[in-house]
Amino acid sequence: MVIIVGAGPIGLATAIELKRRDIPAKIIERGCLVNSIFHYPKDMTFFSTSERLEIGDVPFISHNPKPTRREALEYYRRAAESYDLDIHLYEEVQDISGDDKSFNVTTDKGSYNAKKVVVATGFYDVPKMMGTPGEELDKVRHYYDEAHAYAWQNVLVIGGGNSAVDAALETYRAHANVTLAVRDSDIKESVKYWVKPDIKNRIKNDEITGYFNTEVKEIRQNEVVLDTPDGTKTIDNDFVLAMTGYKPNFELMTNFGIDLTNDEDKMPVYNESTLETNRKGMYVAGVVCGGMDTSKLFIENTRIHAEHIAEDIQKKIR
Ligand code: FAD
Repeated sequence: MVIIVGAGPIGLATAIELKRRDIPAKIIERGCLVNSIFHYPKDMTFFSTSERLEIGDVPFISHNPKPTRREALEYYRRAAESYDLDIHLYEEVQDISGDDKSFNVTTDKGSYNAKKVVVATGFYDVPKMMGTPGEELDKVRHYYDEAHAYAWQNVLVIGGGNSAVDAALETYRAHANVTLAVRDSDIKESVKYWVKPDIKNRIKNDEITGYFNTEVKEIRQNEVVLDTPDGTKTIDNDFVLAMTGYKPNFELMTNFGIDLTNDEDKMPVYNESTLETNRKGMYVAGVVCGGMDTSKLFIENTRIHAEHIAEDIQKKIR
């Protein structure tokens, strides 16, 4: 038996590749199926085309070239069902003891023996904190859901990537008074090409106030203080959407016995061709492999991990 921790797209892809090789596998997932995608903004559109999000050769048909979150939820449900995968939902893996070929995986509901373990826990559970005074206030959100709640409110969106730009545009269109604070001199190159002109024009027309080369100095109950190139600005504020990114759960990985590099990237130590980590018999799969740099790995370019891992396990398990 192989235990896969996490039912994200890559955990599912790995289970499928193992099934194709007749190797029994069980996925244990702390939330619902594809829990990260479920918690993405409700009206989100992927930057990838649907065929690049496919797993196990199950066709992903979407209404438009870029699928929506809702379509992806349905797609991954269908993919899991069509391979009849063994998945335990709402069960959290807390500890992994033992050695290669005789691991013991402890969850909040029980324990399981496993010959091999695949850690596919993603990066969406832990927001990157800014360390700004006031960040702990209730009005500061690291996850954006939908725009309606922000109608007629003074909203500060922090960040220059896709999540920040989407949140700024959606809340602006729901009649929030939106300020966008970006640390760099421009929005990120990676922002979806069809969204970029929209945000640039909204800022140019002063429909959204954009501050670049700007840091948030302090968040107070009714205002925020920005450090801008033109000096300190204090503006009225009801909500802060801190779209500053997420990072893998390093504490969990270390507890599992996976070494991380000492530099700021905190990359897990693993063999690039097999994805086996320094802990023999334990693999990493999906975006958890990227350490702090979560901008390079996606579903698109980590789907392939599933095949590499399944091939290696097939060689070693019998
Ligand atoms: P995840 O999908 O994060 O899955 C990890 C799973 O592990 C989660 O379900 C989590 O609940 C579970 N888990 C964590 N800890 C435990 C535990 N202790 N026990 C049990 N389960 C646990 N990628 C693209 O290719 N194209 C796109 O267009 C795209 N758009 C994106 C838009 C947004 C807003 C974001 C945030 C990301 C986007 N990505 C995109 C990236 C992509 O969605 C993620 O990289 C993808 O979800 C990674 O899949 P994964 O299986 O590695 O991890």
